[in-house]
This record gives sequence, C-alpha cells and structure tokens, in this order.
Amino acid sequence: MTSPYSRLETQLVHAGEPMPRILGAVEMPIFQSATFVYQGEARYDDVRYLRSNNTPSQVTLHEKLAILEGAESAMVTASGMAAISTTLLSLLGAGDHLLAHHCLYGGTHDLVSQEFPRYGLGASFIDATRPDTWRDRLTPRTRAIYVEAMTNPLLEVADLEAVVQFARDHGLISIIDNTFASPVNYRPVPAGFDLSLHSATKYLNGHSDIVAGAIAGRADLVDKVRHQLNLLGGSLDPHAAFLLKRGLKTLALRVRFQNDSALRIARFLAGHPRVRRVNYPGLESHPQHARAAKLFAGCGGVLSFELEGGAPEADRFAAQLRIAALAPSLGGVHTLITRPATTSHAGMAPQERRALGISDGLLRLSVGIEATEDLIEDFAAALDGRA
Ligand code: PLP
Repeated sequence: MTSPYSRLETQLVHAGEPMPRILGAVEMPIFQSATFVYQGEARYDDVRYLRSNNTPSQVTLHEKLAILEGAESAMVTASGMAAISTTLLSLLGAGDHLLAHHCLYGGTHDLVSQEFPRYGLGASFIDATRPDTWRDRLTPRTRAIYVEAMTNPLLEVADLEAVVQFARDHGLISIIDNTFASPVNYRPVPAGFDLSLHSATKYLNGHSDIVAGAIAGRADLVDKVRHQLNLLGGSLDPHAAFLLKRGLKTLALRVRFQNDSALRIARFLAGHPRVRRVNYPGLESHPQHARAAKLFAGCGGVLSFELEGGAPEADRFAAQLRIAALAPSLGGVHTLITRPATTSHAGMAPQERRALGISDGLLRLSVGIEATEDLIEDFAAALDGRA
C-alpha cells in the first residue's frame, strides 16, 4: 500500500485516516456499530460486520499499518495471540510442518509445542542464530519458518537475513513476530519477510490499556488470514481500535526515547557489581550486537538481567522499586519488571527454561517513558539496599 507521506512520523499521524474529515472532526470518531447497511457486497467476507474486521475503525487501522510496515496489506486482531494463532492455522493444514524459533514468547511456544499435535500439525524448533543447522530440520511438508525479531526474554537476535533467504530457497512462507522491534526499529516486509506479526498490546498501542494484534505482509496471505479470522472470531473491538490508533500516533516518539533510555539503563546495570549479566543487543558485549546494529534502528525498551543471589535476590530487588511496577507485558509508557519464570514463561517446564538460558532469577525490564535518571536512581537504591 502506498502513502502520500514518505516519512514514518507523518504516516503515524495521517496515513489511512479518512479524508475529507468526518464532520470536520480532527480525530476520527469511534464507529461503535456491530453492523452496517448492506450495499450490494458480493462476498460474505465483504459484508460489513464487526467480526468480519471490515468496519471503519478497523479498516483505517489496516491502511495505516500496511503503510507503516511497508506491506501490501495489513489487518488487526483481538490480541497478539489471535494474530499468531489465526495466521498459523490459516497457513498450515493437517500434516504440515513448521520450523519455529527455539526461544519463542511463552504463549506461542505452548501453541506450537502443545496444541499443534491436536490439529495434526508438526513443528521443529531451530536455533535461529545458526542457519547451518536448519536444513536438517526440513521435511517434505515444511510450509513455513517462524521467528521473533528479538527473543523474549533473552533478547537474542536471529539471523533474519538468512531466514528470508532460506525461506526463498526452500519455498517456505517466512513469518516474523516483530513485536519487540516495532516498525520504528525494523520493517520486516521490505526486508523480505512474507508476514510480520505484532502483539499490538505492546509498543504499537504503548499505553498498557488494551490487548490487540496486527498482521502485515503479502496481500494473498493476509486475505487468507482475514477469512480464517472471520471464522475463528478474533476481531478487534472498535473502542480498542480507537485506543490502538491513538497510541500509534506517538509510536516513533516513544520507541526512540525507549531505545535511548534502555541502552543507558543497560550500561548502568552492566557496570554494577551486584549484576551478574545483562542481555541487551545494544550493548557491545551482546553476542549479536553487530547484527542488531546492522539490522535495527534501535534495540527497543526491553532488557533482561540476572543479579548475584538468584531468584530470592531478584524478588527482593523488584519489591523495593518505587517506579517500575511488578507486572508482565512490555512496550508501554510505564516501566514494568517481571520474573519470566513466574509469568510469561511459567507454562514451560523448568528444565526446558533452563536449557534455553532462562534462569529462575532472570528479571525482564520493559523501560517506559519516565525520566531515565529517575529510573537509574531507583535501581541504584534497590541494588545498594538504600530503598
Ligand atoms: N508476541 C510477543 C513477542 C509477546 O511478548 C506477546 C505477549 O507478551 C505476544 C506475542 C502475545 O500478545 P498478546 O498478549 O497481545 O496476545
């Protein structure tokens, strides 16, 4: 989809918005209507109905997201998991096989490892940083390869260029969960991915007040997913659509601030004697720092770290923080801290978590838009026992 505006900041505010403005309203009103008057639509999927994801609050977002992602087409869903599950169930049929990143968001990991077999779907997990190991995992029924831009919670950066090439060489659909990067830091579709998915609950909305998802990419694939979504039912409510669109307008401002703030906080933590390890691709010490610097405009607001003393010390530290809320989720204006072993990755067997490098004491921090100095003072006080 093309835009009259070439720069991201202007696209975020204006792309896809109705012109002329509706009754002169500077901001588009919420279309809180389940159904719309029939206008002779020929296909069931085109009859305007909220579940069909084709009403004004939804369609405006589809156009804006397609432009932001540099994609032919885009659509919103009721949650990030609705985007992921509906995409995978649309593109894979019984007997098909998926190559999946070994370190996935917990919900996606559970879907692939626990639910897939019930649908007759197969999957193999791959180390997405080692392309030389992928070919051995292919089967005659492998249809797609699925990775995350930066893994949750270890912030590993897959060899994304190799994923695109491998998919082309083997006729696979390439799918990326781009939640952690957002289109401000990485645009997968112009980089060659077929589909880019988001938990729009995170950076795209950015205010921790809705759940939503997004899918952008090849029009033929988005159309397939749209049809499946109509049957599975995970469409986005108009009020959530309004909040998502409002949040999107400040995406560039928020994410660029978060990029800088997270890097400064990562450097502070890495230099503190009570911190054992910091995972943030913006740090020179990160194993995929060079790749992140080449691919991404910034590394986002999420980092993870381990303290000397493991899980008990992590809990003591988190309980003493005054600014960061002890809560799961990420990408919003509030700084949030969580221990993945008890939240996002609690569904995974402990030995599986440890094999991936997610220790029980690992803390994941999502840096919000508070003053960086205030956050650093808060962390320093909790680390030094002055809180
Ligand atoms: N993808 C990633 C990378 C996530 O971190 C999450 C949630 O934390 C999801 C997908 C699922 O999104 P949602 O909670 O909006 O369903």
